Amino acid sequence: MTGAMFDKVLIANRGEIALRIQRACKELGISTVAVHSTADAEAMHVRLADESVCIGPPQASDSYLNIPRLLAACEITGADAVHPGYGFLSENARFAEILEDHNITFIGPTSEHIRIMGDKIAAKETVQKLGIPVVPGSEGGITNEKQAIKVAGEIGYPVLVKAASGGGGRGMKVVTKESDLLSSMAAARSEAKAAFGDDTVYIEKFLTKPRHIEIQVFGDGQGNAIHLGERDCSLQRRHQKVLEEAPSPSLNADSRKKIGETVAKAMSELNYRGAGTIEFLYEDGEFYFIEMNTRLQVEHPVTEMITGIDLVLEQIRVASGSQLTISQSDVTFSGHAIECRINAENPRTFRPSPGRITYWHPPGGLGVRVDSGVYQGYNIPPYYDSLIGKLIVHGKTRNECLMRLKRALSEFVIDGIETTIPLFNELIRQPDIANGMYDIHWLERFLGKP
Ligand code: ADP
Repeated sequence: MTGAMFDKVLIANRGEIALRIQRACKELGISTVAVHSTADAEAMHVRLADESVCIGPPQASDSYLNIPRLLAACEITGADAVHPGYGFLSENARFAEILEDHNITFIGPTSEHIRIMGDKIAAKETVQKLGIPVVPGSEGGITNEKQAIKVAGEIGYPVLVKAASGGGGRGMKVVTKESDLLSSMAAARSEAKAAFGDDTVYIEKFLTKPRHIEIQVFGDGQGNAIHLGERDCSLQRRHQKVLEEAPSPSLNADSRKKIGETVAKAMSELNYRGAGTIEFLYEDGEFYFIEMNTRLQVEHPVTEMITGIDLVLEQIRVASGSQLTISQSDVTFSGHAIECRINAENPRTFRPSPGRITYWHPPGGLGVRVDSGVYQGYNIPPYYDSLIGKLIVHGKTRNECLMRLKRALSEFVIDGIETTIPLFNELIRQPDIANGMYDIHWLERFLGKP
């Protein structure tokens, strides 16, 4: 089935991702509406859009997260679809539902799928039933102390107590011995209650040296689903990804095919629509599901670079009612890609460094892509996250990719603010990074060194 393509898409986001979505819209001949807070009147996503609407003051809760104002912007401009990008309202089931009620297409999955995957216990149960491997742990939430002791004893210490509504690493406690279990569980509960208004917790095995490997999936909501391989996002600080690569240096073609097929089959059975990411911890050759993100990811370009598939374009096509035009056998992986997240932050303390960019010279050349929403003279506002751009490099082999990344980083000049570029210059010179030998704790150990 093919649907009628949209005439006008409103992009409910800012920064590099708003521009990224505009690019896909323009290539499809769709006109674009930018929304912005008063702090973003000068932003590039506003300048390049066909139309723009100011939706409120700087605070995200009064602008980018304000559903009535976004709806009004759709009405004023006559937009027939909304792309939420990542962050902000991208995983808000209520927002998706309200748009559908107003006959505006939400470019993403159904609100029901967003809701299920937003609840960690429901998500884990759902994917487990579909044959996806999960971390061994309690079945559902823990309701009493006796059950907690029994479950943790069966799994074996160390265990991890996690909040069902958790996010951003909050409400999580590692427990190494039984005598600490009940107090840690109480602490996790009260942290979760305060942060999410829900004190449901569950227990799972704590993996000590996993890698973070995620599988990109794509479904059309008409029974077809494919996978686009994995991304290795093990280089993290405080659960925030810093550098991502595809393919993972630790997977071979067989294990890639096996986990990819398992996940694609599950998504087809779920009748999932749009782009999604199934996140796993990977240890000793085994995959353990941790969560599913029902949206586009920051790191999606590394997948685009090795598959040649424009993920945003496919998102828009599928949302308009088209079937997937790509089948699994059409997907081929070519070369290696690495993404560095360039943040306006001090490269050691990670203190945000907003302010005016007095000089901006991005790198170029074969295999180099810079996705960014900033420009020379732009004043980075202090209200939002500090990502100002992404440097993505592609090479025929991992080694070529690393050499090219080193070269591209050396060309990148940003003056007036502090950025994380010096950190990447240091990282690519580390033998463990060159050899692809790192787990999810590697970066924090490295940063902890005097
Ligand atoms: P959140 O939604 O709060 O980010 P996740 O379930 O995605 O929570 O987990 C965040 C991070 O916590 C993971 O990327 C991983 O580093 C760590 N983590 C989660 N579950 C486990 C586990 N069972 N064992 C070891 N580390 C884990």
